[in-house]
Formats: sequence, C-alpha cells, structure tokens
Amino acid sequence: MVVDTDRCVGAGQCVLMEPAVFGQDETDGTVILLVAEPAEDQLDMVRRAVRTCPSEAILLPEPPTEHRD
Ligand code: SF4
Repeated sequence: MVVDTDRCVGAGQCVLMEPAVFGQDETDGTVILLVAEPAEDQLDMVRRAVRTCPSEAILLPEPPTEHRD
C-alpha cells in the first residue's frame, strides 16, 4: 500500500478508522503511512479508509481475482 501525500488534504478520516496503520503529520496534517503491509485483521478498516478518503490518496493494490471459465 502507498499513500500520495501530494493528494492528501489532511482530512484525517484514515487515522480515525485505523490509527495503527495511518498517522498524521503534526505540522500540516498529511497522512503518514505507519504500516505499508496491513495485517489481515486490519484490512477491513484499511479498505474503508480507502473508500472514505476524500482525495483518493490511499492506494491499496488488491490481489487479482481468480476467473473461472
Ligand atoms: S483520509 Fe485521505 S485526505 Fe484524509 S488524511 Fe487520510 S489520506 Fe489524507
């Protein structure tokens, strides 16, 4: 997972949702990624943070889904 601090507007939604994974810069409030590879039990809240972030600054690559013909 990566965060784009240029896009981040410091809204802090991600920090509220999963403070063990996301932090905030003390000076300008931009996101600080504390855990680049969240644990399984953190992924649910991380995905919510991805959806909630107003500036789409959190990029969480999802594994490709398996297609069966
Ligand atoms: S929710 Fe998005 S805009 Fe807000 S601090 Fe987190 S990354 Fe930045």
